Amino acid sequence: MEITLIQGDITEQAVDAVVNAANSSLMGGGGVDGAIHRRGGPAILEECRALRASRYADGLPTGQAVATTAGRLPARWVVHTVGPVYARSEDRSPLLASCHVESLKVADTLGAATVAFPAISTGVYGWPMDDAARIALTTVRQASTSVTEVRFVLYDAEAYAAFTRARDALG
Ligand code: ADP
Repeated sequence: MEITLIQGDITEQAVDAVVNAANSSLMGGGGVDGAIHRRGGPAILEECRALRASRYADGLPTGQAVATTAGRLPARWVVHTVGPVYARSEDRSPLLASCHVESLKVADTLGAATVAFPAISTGVYGWPMDDAARIALTTVRQASTSVTEVRFVLYDAEAYAAFTRARDALG
């Protein structure tokens, strides 16, 4: 699997699936979630509503993932995953790793070969960027998946620099 890092907007990526750092309600929000719903249009929210009415009446649990259409985005699917809120008092990194593993599992089920990830949990959920980068890169590298390209789409220069440092540190 090829892992690429780019600075940019995930809603513009021409990949099979883009991962959304959603919240458990699946009803949209700010940050990357808001951008995906805005650019993708109402078809995404319609499928999210249907998921809430069926499989996920209590919301999508943290660390899990589920797919919907990507609506008007260039991608075919959105894989929604719920990152953990960062906590100093508790190591929630297994849940952050799980977001990546479960999203790749969903991608495999869809037959998605190329998948773009944002820096999950690093926005309003407060995860320090360098640590999130290390966890995301380590997890994706170790994942057993048919996905051929994982593209981390980092929104700003600081996030891109953090992921680049983490990749260099992993060797
Ligand atoms: P979380 O609730 O998981 O922290 P956020 O959406 O608040 O999710 O932030 C996750 C990361 O996504 C942040 O680093 C933020 O800068 C980034 N981000 C926001 N908009 C976009 C976008 N359009 N494309 C890629 N990344 C984005």
